Amino acid sequence: MNKSKKTTRYIFVTGGVTSSLGKGIISASLAKLLQSRGYNVTIQKLDPYINIDPGTLNPYEHGECYVTEDGAETDLDLGHYERFLNVPTSQANNVTTGRIYQSVIRKERQGDYLGETVQIIPHITDEIKYCIQLLGEGNKFDFVITEIGGTVGDIESLPYIEAIRQLKWDLGNRSLVIHLTLIPYLSAAKELKTKPTQHSVKTMLEYGVQPDILVCRTERPLNAGIRNKIALFCNVESSAVIESIDTDTIYKVPLLMREEKLDQVVLKKMKLPATRTLDLSNWELFINKLLHPQKTVNIALVGKYVELVDSYKSIIESFIHAGTQNNCKVNLKLIQSENIINENVAKILKDVSGIIVAPGFGDRGIEGKISAIKYVRENNIPFLGICLGMQCAVIEFARNVIGLDKAHSTEMNPDTPYPVIDIMEEQKNITTKGGTMRLGANTCLVSKNSKAEKIYKKALISERHRHRYEFNNDYLKMFEKHGMIPTGTNPGTGLVEIMEIPTHPWFVGVQFHPEYKSTVAQPHPLFVNFVKAVIKSKA
Ligand code: GLN
Repeated sequence: MNKSKKTTRYIFVTGGVTSSLGKGIISASLAKLLQSRGYNVTIQKLDPYINIDPGTLNPYEHGECYVTEDGAETDLDLGHYERFLNVPTSQANNVTTGRIYQSVIRKERQGDYLGETVQIIPHITDEIKYCIQLLGEGNKFDFVITEIGGTVGDIESLPYIEAIRQLKWDLGNRSLVIHLTLIPYLSAAKELKTKPTQHSVKTMLEYGVQPDILVCRTERPLNAGIRNKIALFCNVESSAVIESIDTDTIYKVPLLMREEKLDQVVLKKMKLPATRTLDLSNWELFINKLLHPQKTVNIALVGKYVELVDSYKSIIESFIHAGTQNNCKVNLKLIQSENIINENVAKILKDVSGIIVAPGFGDRGIEGKISAIKYVRENNIPFLGICLGMQCAVIEFARNVIGLDKAHSTEMNPDTPYPVIDIMEEQKNITTKGGTMRLGANTCLVSKNSKAEKIYKKALISERHRHRYEFNNDYLKMFEKHGMIPTGTNPGTGLVEIMEIPTHPWFVGVQFHPEYKSTVAQPHPLFVNFVKAVIKSKA
């Protein structure tokens, strides 16, 4: 057999009619099914905006910024990919229009296109095709699933659809297109309507792309009549019209797609045998536990972007994994930190048995976070602080236990007399904002006999970072003397990564982001243990 023969298959997932149909979840679910049949799968997201990455975006724009092992600041869909597949992604899994143009313009300046007029076709489309096929290099993956952000018909998406058109031509039956659309139910007519889907497919056809499979989001089941009608009008087989019905949890979607035989239709179209059996038993076990919790606890997530749940996507999902692991439903109450003051904190937090203080940037809502931490510290309520949440715990302790009045982070108050959180040395001369934080996986040495050691059950751990500020080691002795102990440090730099109060039942602040590493297959131990502590404290 010719070793250089390319065998990777490419699946493109586009969206029509409206945004928010769940392309990311469909992509992740299909990937899960193929993975469960023994195939190696990776998923990529192409985002048609001009930012180089979402790192500079306010979470209100596109939700959380997800960070990969290699320190890429990416779209939150990559979080779903990792949570479903339990396989790390990287910068190559998220490409934006900004990144495509940046690369083409750099090449133009280098003289790579000397003499040519640089144009959307072929230069931008070639760059898109390159980024897609990069993941397939070396036949590392059996399948590369590429999700195209946005909705077909948007000006921004055009070069991507054109790149798919060309790739379909180049790759033949090593590629296919899944188009996700909406079948709305009109209550006045008491009918599901297929017209928006027909029009959406027509738009694809105008661009020269015939979808191979239609995944139809719907609130009601699609009967055979509707399926046949969609098939007839959109040039697909009726077996390739897949129902994607609304469901109460995203984790059921792989099971629904299995029922609809999405994976089998894909394999058949790609002329691959569906002989390897599909084993989703662990996934089913998880769903079963998720749907039948034996107890419930209330936990508060104190943050400033609470109006948009997507801002805290990975934290919310981590609690689903950790709750399930504990046979417990975690009622996560999102609380706006701006509304909290010392005088009302007991009332606001009266129904919760644990609190988590969220990551974040800037001054807004900071004093509310500090009040919430004071309350849980004094009342022995389990507390987990993530990144800015840990930094707030340090500030609170400095002010209210050590007595360093007006202690602060220099991010919020550059003139504080007690900069207990300060800018990292290597950050001091950086003036540009994009991609310049301390990003991605870093190792951390965990102290013997600490809570962290009991939780992680090992001395050397690795977690992902996204911050510019850090605990100021000038204050280390003072903190230790008063009972807040660094129990995790970076072995190379000595940066403090974990802070604990050993006299408190469960008080842990982490400078890193454990939420990025929690998956269905491997719920994160910090969240699992935190939920366990909350259950215990409630009992
Ligand atoms: N704003 C803080 C810093 O940059 C915390 C960042 C975060 O919570 N991700 O250090």
